Amino acid sequence: MTNNIKIGGLIYNVNYCEELFTEQNFKMFGEIDYEKLVINICQKYPRQRQSQTILHEIIHGVNDHIGADQNENSVELFTNVLYSTIIDNKEFFKEMIDNGSRKPNK
Ligand SMILES: [Zn+2]
Repeated sequence: MTNNIKIGGLIYNVNYCEELFTEQNFKMFGEIDYEKLVINICQKYPRQRQSQTILHEIIHGVNDHIGADQNENSVELFTNVLYSTIIDNKEFFKEMIDNGSRKPNK
């Protein structure tokens, strides 16, 4: 599995670490560094949490790319609804990725 993800033409390296803290010493699930092009993910949490966190950081990356305001609450809300939509429709998204489009209706 690759540890690289391209966001807006920039290749970010996804790095897994044991612990992540804010400057105020609060624990974090993950973070994105727009200058170093790194997404750090704390690997001590369950895989689902890590995946949701990667999606959260990707949304930050997309927002940075388009110059959108970075409101943490709206990023979090958007992440949660998008993550559940993807997870609840795995077959649909798998087919979309594999075939580029959905099957035509018969
Ligand atoms: Zn965030």
